Amino acid sequence: MNAADLTAWIRRAAELVAADAERLTELDAAIGDGDHGHNLARGLAAAVDVLDELPADASPQQVLTTAGRTLVSKTGGASGALYGMALRRAGKALKVDEIDARWLGAALREALAGVQDLGKAEEGDKTMVDALARAVAAFDAARHEGADLAGAARAAAAAAEEGAQATVPMQARKGRASYLGPRSVGHLDPGAASTALILRALADVTGGEG
Ligand code: ADP
Ligand code: MG
Repeated sequence: MNAADLTAWIRRAAELVAADAERLTELDAAIGDGDHGHNLARGLAAAVDVLDELPADASPQQVLTTAGRTLVSKTGGASGALYGMALRRAGKALKVDEIDARWLGAALREALAGVQDLGKAEEGDKTMVDALARAVAAFDAARHEGADLAGAARAAAAAAEEGAQATVPMQARKGRASYLGPRSVGHLDPGAASTALILRALADVTGGEG
């Protein structure tokens, strides 16, 4: 996986989030303020535009840190800051031009650490962390069992989707949804749902559509 593949990941994530923007926004309307899908679609589209302007020899690190900076400034909301931090931290972890499964695993771990350093959410708080933490764990587990990058990405995408679904019975303890207390129970967390799409995008571009 190289810088062009990372750009393809962001492009695919932008496509998947745009296609599902209405659903994500409805999820956020139920337990938040109803801006998540359209905000994130706009932020990712802006990131794609900025990445298209990068020089052809841009490094993996530049691709992800640039995408992260753009998300912070163009997405808005809690998720813009959190996803922006995630991509910037992931980018900084990438110090080579050719990313193997080990490097990508390290980048995903840094993304999770960035989200948790900024947002202070743990698993079980009904946030994007519930999807991302499971994805990171599944990626590493698959890699240790001998999966290649595509296989590990596929495992991460499936785990992120499971992690998102697992937020339904949870009561939110972080973010705007936490203001609802017990009334947040029974709803899918919008940020966990978008994280599942972003991991799905990664599996798609690494050849792991299955
Ligand atoms: P808001 O409109 O409340 O500013 P967004 O709509 O952009 O936020 O994003 C909402 C999502 O952000 C939530 O569904 C949740 O997954 C995530 N989120 C909110 N706060 C946190 C936090 N402290 N840590 C991790 N994720 C969070
Ligand atoms: Mg919102």
